[in-house]
Amino acid sequence: MRETVGIVRCPDYQENHLREAVTRLLEMLRLDRISRPDTLLFKPNMLSARRPEEGVTTHPGVLKVLGEALAGRILIGDSPANTARPIEEYWDTCGLTAVAASLKASLVKFEEPVFLSLKVRKKNVKIPVAAISRKIPMVNLPKLKTHGLTVITAATKNLYGCIPGYQKSLLHRLFLSPQDFSYLLIELYRMLRDNIFFHLVDAITIMDGNGPSAGRLRGPGYLIAGRDALAVDIVCGKLLGLKAAEIPFLKLYDEIYGLPKVDLLGDRLLPLSDVALPGLSASSSLLKLPFVSSAARLMRPFFTIRPVLREKNCRHCLACVRVCPVSAISREPKILEAKCIRCLCCFEVCPHKAIQLEKSWLARRLT
Ligand code: SF4
Ligand code: SF4
Repeated sequence: MRETVGIVRCPDYQENHLREAVTRLLEMLRLDRISRPDTLLFKPNMLSARRPEEGVTTHPGVLKVLGEALAGRILIGDSPANTARPIEEYWDTCGLTAVAASLKASLVKFEEPVFLSLKVRKKNVKIPVAAISRKIPMVNLPKLKTHGLTVITAATKNLYGCIPGYQKSLLHRLFLSPQDFSYLLIELYRMLRDNIFFHLVDAITIMDGNGPSAGRLRGPGYLIAGRDALAVDIVCGKLLGLKAAEIPFLKLYDEIYGLPKVDLLGDRLLPLSDVALPGLSASSSLLKLPFVSSAARLMRPFFTIRPVLREKNCRHCLACVRVCPVSAISREPKILEAKCIRCLCCFEVCPHKAIQLEKSWLARRLT
């Protein structure tokens, strides 16, 4: 199977630069010629209530110019994991309220679920996803970042946001290891993909290091788009200097179903040098060792990364306490090591970088 991915340079988020880049991408992929559905659901990454310049969420300027280019009726929606704050706060801070007003688009909440029956590693599971993501064709609009659990987050991982709020955290209890979580991601994608119009990744400013919420911002200056999430993610990995085999969910997909061959169109992709990866990326090489993989569940706490609370940065908002699916954070707050399943949800939602990732004892010695 062959899939085409378009790459366009875009140096920054200035509207004229974005407009030129988006127009080129749509033409290159012939998306301007395909009759678009009457209504489209834009699904950005709205991980937390952070300003666009913090590089955690998809830049609203991308949605604005894309909405203008595609015209027609547009809905905008996503579901952050920390549901304790009003969703309007997220829309305002992430710049989506202003974009929706300018496009005359509606902001929608991902609350009402439908349940998808997935078979994940021989387990039959019912996964809740926002009903609207099944009804309205989606344009998936991720932000490229490194990720403590999945190594990168781009097109495939952004679709995990279709699972309403806290349900996302709860699912980590069922899919504990990076391997199990990769199974979930790829089966979820296979279930959702027929309803996705295309994927367009904001890789103008990206995050490496302690992504997806507390890393370093870098500016490779690209928009990357295509109709297949896996092909798009292969290219996003390349930009970060990673092969598909180094990204757990792509590696797994290749083993089970086979990855598509990618035909590149557009500008030359210049991979970034000195990309900093989260601790797990280094320790994930340990998963290839036979003695580790066979005893992975038992040994996991010793070789993965773990969240550590830096008290001086903590402002006691308790977002981490609310999001933890196994009540492993007390209200002081304090992380109870013995209960922690390393899902990293607390790290993702902390708005003050008070939770950092640290390699565990064994990972420090073997990597
Ligand atoms: S660690 Fe972060 S999320 Fe948790 S209470 Fe402190 S500031 Fe809030
Ligand atoms: S304390 Fe552990 S289990 Fe709880 S949210 Fe953080 S990483 Fe997940």
